[in-house]
Amino acid sequence: MISRFERQLPLFGAAGQRMLRQAHVAIVGLGGIGSHVNQQLSYLGVGQLTLLDGDVVEDTNLNRLIGGTQTDVLAATPKVFVAERLTKSIDPDIKVTAHQGSAATTEAVALLANTTFVIGCLDHDGPRLALLTICTALRKPYLDVATDISPKDSVYGGRVIFGGGGSGCLYCLNQLDQGEVRRWMSTDEAIASEDRLYGRRAAGPSPSVVSLNGVLASVACMEFMAETTGLRPARRWLEYDGQTGKLRVDTSSPAPNCPYCFGPQSDAVDSLARLLRLVPTRQQ
Ligand SMILES: [Zn+2]
Repeated sequence: MISRFERQLPLFGAAGQRMLRQAHVAIVGLGGIGSHVNQQLSYLGVGQLTLLDGDVVEDTNLNRLIGGTQTDVLAATPKVFVAERLTKSIDPDIKVTAHQGSAATTEAVALLANTTFVIGCLDHDGPRLALLTICTALRKPYLDVATDISPKDSVYGGRVIFGGGGSGCLYCLNQLDQGEVRRWMSTDEAIASEDRLYGRRAAGPSPSVVSLNGVLASVACMEFMAETTGLRPARRWLEYDGQTGKLRVDTSSPAPNCPYCFGPQSDAVDSLARLLRLVPTRQQ
C-alpha cells in the first residue's frame, strides 16, 4: 500500500492517507461527472465506495463516460457496473457496493446510511433536493457538483457546494430551480396535463462535455480530499467560469432560517419519510 501512495503522502501524510482509506463515500449519479469522481477517489485510495445510478450506457454517453466502451452500449451495461469495473481495475482492495436505481428509495437510503460522505453528481434539481433531504436526515456531509452549459448566453461552467455546519446548503443558497423540483415530484399524468395546458415541451438532454465535467469533478475531489485528510476544511461554494477560466470562492450569505441547515432533526426525518412515499419510483 505504501508504494502505491508514496507520491501523494508528502501532501497530506500517512495519517491523511489512513483517513482516505477509512472513508466510505457514496457517489450518487455515475454519469459524466460521477464517473470522473469515481476514478479520482479510486486513485486517491478511498477504502469503500457505494455507487448509485439507475441508467445504462447509451451511445450518446461515449463522449464523456469515464470507463464506458462501445461494448457497454451494445450490452446496455448499467453505469454503476462500469464504475465498479474501473475501480476494481485500479485497486481491487477497494470495497464497492453498486446499486442500480434511484437514491430516493428505502433500499438506497439504507445504503447511504452506512457511508461517511456523500457526493451528488446529478443532472436535475428534483433528485438534488431528494439527496439533500436524505443527507440532512442521516446527518451525512454532502458535496454537490453541477455543470451548466447555455450556448445562447455564452455560459459554460459549474459549481461545487459543500453543505453542513449551518453555513449554507443548496436550498438556502438558492441553487435549486423550484419549478424543476415540483415537476419531479409530480405524477406523469400531472406533468402531461401541465404540458398540454401551457404548451410546454419536455426539455431535451442537457449539454455535457468531458473536459468541463473533469474540471468540476476535480474541484469536488480536491474539496473532499482537503476535508477528509485534514489539509483544510472544504470550501462551502466554488464557482467555475469556463469563459474567463476563473475559479471563484463565493461568499454570498445564505437565506436565514433554512429548514435543512437549522431545522430540528425530527423535521428532517419526517421530510425523508414523506419523500420516500411521494417518489418511490422516480429515477435520477
Ligand atoms: Zn440551508
